[in-house]
Amino acid sequence: MSVKEFPSLNEQQLQRLVYEVTQFGLSNGLIMYPPAPYLNYQPVLAPITIYPTPLPRDQFLKSLDIQLIYNKLYANIVSENEWLTNIIKTLSSSDKDFTGKLWDCYLKALNNGIVQDVSLSLTRSDYMYDELSNQIKQVEFNTVSVSFGGLSSKVGKTHQYLNQNGLYSNNGDNISTYYKENEIVISESDEKLATGLYTGVKYYNDKYLNGENKSIVLMIIQPNERNAFDQRAIEYQLLKNHNVITKRVELPNVLSMVKIDKNNSNKLYYQGLEVSVVYYRSAYGPSEFNQPETWDVRITLESSLSIKCPSLLTQLSGSKKIQQLLTKKDILSKFIDNDLEINKITDTFCKIYPLDESNDGLLARKLAFEKPDNFVLKPQREGGGNNIYKDDIPNFLNSIPKSEWEAYILMELIHPKIHNNIILRNGELLNDGIVSELGIFGTYLFNEKTGEILNNNVAGHLLRSKTSSSNEGGVAAGFGCVDNMYLY
Ligand code: ADP
Ligand code: MG
Repeated sequence: MSVKEFPSLNEQQLQRLVYEVTQFGLSNGLIMYPPAPYLNYQPVLAPITIYPTPLPRDQFLKSLDIQLIYNKLYANIVSENEWLTNIIKTLSSSDKDFTGKLWDCYLKALNNGIVQDVSLSLTRSDYMYDELSNQIKQVEFNTVSVSFGGLSSKVGKTHQYLNQNGLYSNNGDNISTYYKENEIVISESDEKLATGLYTGVKYYNDKYLNGENKSIVLMIIQPNERNAFDQRAIEYQLLKNHNVITKRVELPNVLSMVKIDKNNSNKLYYQGLEVSVVYYRSAYGPSEFNQPETWDVRITLESSLSIKCPSLLTQLSGSKKIQQLLTKKDILSKFIDNDLEINKITDTFCKIYPLDESNDGLLARKLAFEKPDNFVLKPQREGGGNNIYKDDIPNFLNSIPKSEWEAYILMELIHPKIHNNIILRNGELLNDGIVSELGIFGTYLFNEKTGEILNNNVAGHLLRSKTSSSNEGGVAAGFGCVDNMYLY
């Protein structure tokens, strides 16, 4: 298993490559909006690596293989209502601002009556390939608003195009390909995430509309979404392949745009159209809820007959606290009874500590101060930019009340390989080394009450990379870029 170096191009070949990446990407919708201010016709090429990044094939196949186990695990966690709600209730008191608010929404929705037991989840399990263990290690499991599944398919196609056109070849023969065809794998996440949404739509249509395909998906988005084209790619696949319309509505505007028919099983309508699936591409951070109405949106929709993607409990099952608890074998084995499956996913775990007053928690409190360089400290947040790294950890912990420490987990750092790939961002080339994070998408439809899993699928992949000097890899936040792999 030998790894090819990155293509080595001269200045002229590199300039040509940049021109071709740009035109292919723009032609095919590999785009996002720049930071504000911008007008709606002014998107730019998404930041992208100009070459695919090496990843061992066996590790990629493994990540695909275990996705169904991870999906099942998280579905089972939600179906074990008592276990999950006890954890979340406790967590709510140390993380009042977000977990506490979502929990409160859940209690209010429960009080109004939750009439739909079936819920849908579009997930992404994120990994880094760890150089110390030569294995992929899980960074986190996302259960709300997973992004880049729409753009990812286009990144693979871009690298494939460049390869097919001989632009990676440096021998002057401009038709020879540098990578073999099967070394660049293209993600079908745009199509497969749309199919995931359709499993929810179809379930609803069959059950409540005599199988007639006339309900819609309501995508709840953030105002001024820069990553709109990623979402659009999924919307268009859903229409093309399944003949289902998607309407987009901004989170703060939902209540003025929808009606719930209390006399007809709490059916949800958007401008007269019956909504089968509520698809959140928002509502994953406290700043989105700065007006009280936005919490009401969450409560109102949760009590409707539409299938939520995700439900509040499914979103909460993706808390970092749950990820930490699952690293304990006795807890994990509550949800998965097959040893082989347990071993397969345990291989991908890093050591994660609580920061409570248990023995593990007390050990972690010591480690955080004595060996901070080995760790990242994570709050119960999503969406990037929230973690505290290495020697910032002690000061940070000292700066908050001890009663809030329990809201954090302490995770051992993964050691990804630094590759000499080049990032193209805003027309500029950045070449001070990158590290990459692999994401595997999944979709599952399940009954939260009975635990029955109606559908479980793997839905393609994503590679994101960031300059090796930055701790975080947010693409929109300006740290990272989209990438795709060269499998060796
Ligand atoms: P978020 O929910 O904000 O996306 P993550 O857990 O994904 O939080 O962490 C954000 C980023 O921090 C990751 O994309 C990764 O670049 C980095 N990171 C997180 N955990 C680790 C880890 N254990 N080792 C190395 N880097 C990590
Ligand atoms: Mg993440």
